[in-house]
Amino acid sequence: MRILLVEDDAALSLGIGRAFEREGWRVDVLDDGQVAIAEGLATAYDVAVLDLGLPRRDGMEVLRHWRGRGARMPVLLLTARDELHDRVLGLDAGADDYLTKPFDVPELVARVRALKRRADGRIDDLVTVGELALDLTHRELTYRGERVRMSPREIALAQLLMQRCGRVVPKESIVSTLSSWESDFSENSVEVYVHRLRKRFAELGVVIKTVRGFGYVLEPSTPDSPPA
Ligand code: CA
Repeated sequence: MRILLVEDDAALSLGIGRAFEREGWRVDVLDDGQVAIAEGLATAYDVAVLDLGLPRRDGMEVLRHWRGRGARMPVLLLTARDELHDRVLGLDAGADDYLTKPFDVPELVARVRALKRRADGRIDDLVTVGELALDLTHRELTYRGERVRMSPREIALAQLLMQRCGRVVPKESIVSTLSSWESDFSENSVEVYVHRLRKRFAELGVVIKTVRGFGYVLEPSTPDSPPA
C-alpha cells in the first residue's frame, strides 16, 4: 500500500515514516501544503495522513483541493489543536478520521490500516467514463455492461487515467503506480502499456491523448475528437 504523509515536524514525520515502512508500506513524505495539493492529485495513494498546520497551505486547504478535484483516497488528519471546531471542519471537508497530537504511533498505524480496509470494502467504488465503468472493488472493467478482459496492470493504468479523466496524468505517476508489479519498470515501458491501452480504449469510445514531455490525458471521444 502506498501512503502520502504530509507533516512539517521533521522528527515526527521520520518516526511515522519508519513505522509505516516497518508495515511494508511505501511512504512519500512532504512537509509543504502547496506541494501536497499537487502530489495528492497526481498520484494514486491508498491513504493520506495530513497534518493541519503546514507551511504555505494549511491541511484544511489541502484537503478541500483534493476533494474538490476528485481525489478520493481516505484522509486521516493530524491536529495539534485539540479543538472540536477543527475536527468538525475537517470531517465536513471530507476527512475520514483524525488523531490529536500527541498520539501513539501504533495507534496511527492501526487507524491507517482500518481506513484502508474500509476503503477496500466500499461498494460504491465505481469510476465511469463514457460507457466504460471500472469497479474498483472487484478490479473489473465493463463496456455497456459487458466485461472487458484486461491484465491487472492494464486495469491499474485504466484506473489511474479514468479517475483523472480530463486531467493530465504525469508519466512519473504511471511509473510509480505500475512499478509495484515490476521493479525495473521504466518510462519506456509506460509507452508500451499506454499504446496497448490506447488501442483497446479507442474501440470503446475513449481516447488517450499524449501531452508531449509530460504525460497522458483520457477523454471520452466525441465526433470532433477522432482517436489520436
Ligand atoms: Ca505542523
